Amino acid sequence: MSLRFEIITIFPDFFTGVFDHGIVRRAQAEGLVGVNIHDLRAFTHDRHRTVDDRPFGGGEGMVMKPEPLAEALESLGARAKEFLRSTPEARSAPGDRAGAQVVILLSAQGRRFSQAVARDLAAHERIVLICGRYEGVDERINQLYCDMELSIGDYVLSGGELAAAVVVDAVMRLVPGVLGNEASGEFESFGVADSEIATDPDGVPRSQHGSGGLLDYPHYTRPTEFGGLSAPDVLLNGDHSQIRRWRREQQLRKTLANRPDLLEKAELSDEDRKILRSFAENPA
Ligand code: SAH
Repeated sequence: MSLRFEIITIFPDFFTGVFDHGIVRRAQAEGLVGVNIHDLRAFTHDRHRTVDDRPFGGGEGMVMKPEPLAEALESLGARAKEFLRSTPEARSAPGDRAGAQVVILLSAQGRRFSQAVARDLAAHERIVLICGRYEGVDERINQLYCDMELSIGDYVLSGGELAAAVVVDAVMRLVPGVLGNEASGEFESFGVADSEIATDPDGVPRSQHGSGGLLDYPHYTRPTEFGGLSAPDVLLNGDHSQIRRWRREQQLRKTLANRPDLLEKAELSDEDRKILRSFAENPA
């Protein structure tokens, strides 16, 4: 098993069926990836199996109490950062949190999840994902046990479960061997710099979404005519260098329209800059 996910949730049934489709299902069937769901209420000890409590300082809603979460995490081999409880000097020392296991708190306050983060995570052996509910999780769980707070985007979900599913899906497909040969070897390019793809001497450029790169180009398949629209001629004539240029142009156009922020960090060639200038001169 090259990568295991451990998901801690108060709604274990939420994940029924979620990971039973497509690549994610196949990766598990082939033993490349495993997903275990842990019911947080199994780590409570009161009759009502209580996982939440009222917030200190008042205010709305409830807060996920720390004890069941700590117990769940310890059961997975996570250990509290002892140095946090000791002296201020020790607290400012770097932690020893790097390693095979990473503990992640899904949180709207987290650093933003991206393809680059997914790539980093895919290198671990075990990823523990804590799904918050209510107003969130007692902050001491974050301080004591978590290596990272992760947000899947600038919006507030009602719980961390959907976010955990997103992280599992995106990370899992980056585990070596998960994507079929046809997809990964030839046409996928995660982890490959844009410039390498653009200058790939043989064949057409590949589908891609590298962080710091450009958005993917649009895809077409049969029929050639659909809804009164033709698939672009350039894709039908088999001229790979023309296809390559068209796809790059489309990537630049789409990125400029939908994610101009990515252009600032993207590796652009002189040719790319020329294409971008031509858009300004002849807007589509
Ligand atoms: N009061 C919190 C929101 C709590 S939402 C705030 O304003 O930041 C309840 C739970 O949903 C959170 O604990 C977290 O686990 C999850 N969640 C909400 N939005 C999320 C996001 N954008 N990314 C990841 N998890 C999120």
